[in-house]
Amino acid sequence: ARAWHLERRPNGMPVHDDFALKDIALPDLADGQIRVANRWLSVDPYMRGRMNDVKSYVPPFQLGEPMQGGAIGEVVESKADGFAKGDLVQHMEGWRDEAVVDTATGMAQKLPPLDVPAQAFLGQLGMPGLTGYFGLLEVAGAKKGDTVFVSAAAGAVGSTVVQVAKAKGMTVIGSAGGKEKCDWVRSLGADHMIDYKSGTPVVKALMEAAPDGIDVYFDNVGGDHLDAALAVANQHARFAICGMIDIYNTSEPTELRYLPRVIGARIRIQGFIVSDYLARAEEFYRDMGTMLQSGQLKREETVVEGLDNMPDAFLGLFSGKNMGKMLVKV
Ligand code: NDP
Repeated sequence: ARAWHLERRPNGMPVHDDFALKDIALPDLADGQIRVANRWLSVDPYMRGRMNDVKSYVPPFQLGEPMQGGAIGEVVESKADGFAKGDLVQHMEGWRDEAVVDTATGMAQKLPPLDVPAQAFLGQLGMPGLTGYFGLLEVAGAKKGDTVFVSAAAGAVGSTVVQVAKAKGMTVIGSAGGKEKCDWVRSLGADHMIDYKSGTPVVKALMEAAPDGIDVYFDNVGGDHLDAALAVANQHARFAICGMIDIYNTSEPTELRYLPRVIGARIRIQGFIVSDYLARAEEFYRDMGTMLQSGQLKREETVVEGLDNMPDAFLGLFSGKNMGKMLVKV
């Protein structure tokens, strides 16, 4: 088998030489293990954090070791009860074409019986979808009638937030880089789109798009987007802080000119991690699964072909190469 290894810790934006694709020897199966031929691999912005040697909510990747991440594959050999050859499973031994996975630790799960393509469980029905769904409805407590602003709205999490918000009766303002993405998110139902690459400062564009303010901000970006949301937030607005991709590759501090509005506007700012809501996956599959199977929600993915090209897929997240979920097809 072959796996991508972290060769070097990046400084700023990662480069190709930080990664190395190497052969790995996989062991014979022990009891409780399965051998999985990976079909789909996930690249996610949080992996950038794991390339740094810092303590965080997920441990750092180890230098010279295979990297990990979400994956979906087919069981080709099983010594585990409940798993048979041919089963499709999701697990965390990604960044490689084949994996031996311990099932006892709950690290491998059979795909839920929903009538959607397998790779949806890495996107809208997987970690990013769960993040968008509970981040919007629980962390921000967004409700029918709210005006919601969401950044990185054409991405995996953002495009879920846009569609769930519309399905639940909210007004949605999104931001994304470029006209094509903005048009696409509008086609998903967004009421207004801001092209943050158009040259107009985000705060100015948001003031125009939201003359009556915003009740909820779903933050995927941080920086000027967070500042703009602070500037236009209504009384008792709720901010779900999901990610700050604008600062993942820099050590420059963010200037938040409008931060003092937190006080007068009584803004509630709440960060969260998707794992906070894993226990509610059943509820999520029911609601999102129904909306996806009925066609009410649209799925989009950007597929990079081949394990060899996986670093390109990952790096593409930071220059906006994806619409919807970025995936690698092995
Ligand atoms: P996306 O599919 O949204 O991909 C990243 C997108 O971010 C790109 O397509 C790009 O779109 C945009 N982007 C990249 N750099 C910048 C920048 N400097 N300024 C503005 N936009 C930028 O990724 P995900 O949906 O997987 O993740 C979205 C966010 O959610 C990330 O911040 C991620 O870390 C966070 N997250 C947090 C989780 C949690 O548990 N808290 C779980 C999952 C994700 P464009 O072309 O529009 O610039």
